[in-house]
Amino acid sequence: MSVKTSKLLLHYLNLSGNQHVSLRGIAREAKQQVIEDCMCNCQNRLSLLQIRRVFSEFWAIANHEQQNHYLRGCIEVLGTENINGNRKKMYRYKVKLPEFTVNVCRKFFLGLHGINESRIRRKVGKLLL
Ligand SMILES: [Zn+2]
Repeated sequence: MSVKTSKLLLHYLNLSGNQHVSLRGIAREAKQQVIEDCMCNCQNRLSLLQIRRVFSEFWAIANHEQQNHYLRGCIEVLGTENINGNRKKMYRYKVKLPEFTVNVCRKFFLGLHGINESRIRRKVGKLLL
């Protein structure tokens, strides 16, 4: 395998969320779904199978731009709210399933897809404004 193809392969593994060792020899953990208890019991709105499917289909996209495009389609800007003099954008997070669409909280949405808040802010939020 040439250096070029192995680079491409690593890139793919990274984007698809699989565990791999980076070119610098750093072991990267596989992307993980983190389903935490939220006050609103979002996890009860989906079956375990649906929860798993959302995660695996998201990482199967394996393309950063297309993943962001998908995320933007799931997030709706509700408007701005004034909190202690600071303007804060309010969002709605939707999980789109073939069967139905369900609104979930931010915490559940992030954990469901195995992404962190900074990704939404940097890559997705900007384009929603
Ligand atoms: Zn919730």
